[in-house]
Amino acid sequence: MAKSLHVQNINAWFSDQLVLKHIHMDLSANQITAIIGPSGCGKSTFIRCLNRMHETVPGARVTGDIFLEESSIYQMPATEVRRRIGMVFREPNPFPTLSIFDNLTLALRLGGMRNHRQLRERAERSLRVAGLWDEVKDKLNQNALVLSLGQQQRLCIARALALEPDVLLLDEPASALDPVSTLQIEELMEQIKKDLTIVIVTHNLQQAARIADTTAFFLDGELVEWGDTSLLFTKPSDRRTEDYIAGRF
Ligand code: ADP
Ligand code: MG
Repeated sequence: MAKSLHVQNINAWFSDQLVLKHIHMDLSANQITAIIGPSGCGKSTFIRCLNRMHETVPGARVTGDIFLEESSIYQMPATEVRRRIGMVFREPNPFPTLSIFDNLTLALRLGGMRNHRQLRERAERSLRVAGLWDEVKDKLNQNALVLSLGQQQRLCIARALALEPDVLLLDEPASALDPVSTLQIEELMEQIKKDLTIVIVTHNLQQAARIADTTAFFLDGELVEWGDTSLLFTKPSDRRTEDYIAGRF
């Protein structure tokens, strides 16, 4: 079931450089929230904080707290956080030595699911949701890299969905893809938001305007403003948001 995320006073540093400053924000269930802002403003750092991925980045330090509904993600085992809050990156990154089927089921097997029929059902369901089933049903035992880049990215989304997460984080998931694959990813997000909380980093303002219910504008590590997407694009409350949307920097 979808669960909302509550970000409370997150600060992030790389060595002594403060890259996220006092971020407070709610990410609502069954919505798509877009994170926008110029390169280097802290979007990727922020989205990594949301499932503690920053802990894998050397030199990163974070203070503050993040709640998944009522539970602090800092009080949960890291493996549980990664299962409940899935992540997809800019470059499609299927496990390169594994088959399509094993890409989808590795984490489930590591988590203790052994029954082949159950694994197969979970793989099929997530591929259907990702709109990939018809394209790959005859190739499940082939290496994941036989797929096109757009298909690989949908496989990565299916891989995250196979764990039945509460939240899906996507860091510029369509930036490396062609326009048709981009639209497929956008349609997919629209479809799955009924079951999930979705957070997407994008530098594509049209994409944010098309798909996001809520948009947040970051600048120099600060969350300048966030709220209803159409309001933010038409009546931003901060001059810096207005300038960014108008393409003035
Ligand atoms: P965005 O995703 O908006 O382009 P990032 O979150 O990647 O921005 O970066 C925010 C700031 O943190 C930038 O100044 C960047 O140089 C710095 N930064 C990001 N990753 C690292 C890292 N691994 N080590 C040191 N500094 C980093
Ligand atoms: Mg980034």
